[in-house]
Amino acid sequence: MADGDFSIEAAWDLSAPCYVRKLKRGSYWYDARPLPDRVDTIIEKDFRLDQDGVVSVFEVRSGVDLRRVAVGLNATRDSLSEDIFLIAISPDELQGVRAEPIPGDTKCLWANRLHHNLVVEQQSAFTSVVESLIRAGRKPTKFSRKKMGRAAEEASREGCYATRDRAMSSDPCVCERET
Ligand SMILES: [Zn+2]
Repeated sequence: MADGDFSIEAAWDLSAPCYVRKLKRGSYWYDARPLPDRVDTIIEKDFRLDQDGVVSVFEVRSGVDLRRVAVGLNATRDSLSEDIFLIAISPDELQGVRAEPIPGDTKCLWANRLHHNLVVEQQSAFTSVVESLIRAGRKPTKFSRKKMGRAAEEASREGCYATRDRAMSSDPCVCERET
């Protein structure tokens, strides 16, 4: 069962619900540089506003949510079983940042329903958010190829569209049927 690999409590010692975001890498989150320098790098690499001027996150309440989000995110990459780095943010850490539910555009319909945009006036709004994550000792969590491989197998059993071409079959996927 892949869901034990995606326990929110085990990954971040946080209770659900929380928001998760994909990171470039984990290393610069806890290098030896002073806090303001690390915060600048993290904002630059991981909290850059996209072309719509927002930052994309997923609200997760369970290991199943987290697993499906990770697979959905990997579906746009070279392989479903690539290593993926994720960070979690609790709702009360989003000071001055609004989380708006809006359907995502991954291939996983379940993940898409969990998608939110973080809306800010300026990218600098993330400064206090990132500072509070670092002060709380939050760590990027790497979900390894091994875990992602098991997650991809589970997604395949569920018929998730992240693992197959939706147009090729009319069988509904679990992500579509369950609510
Ligand atoms: Zn799915």
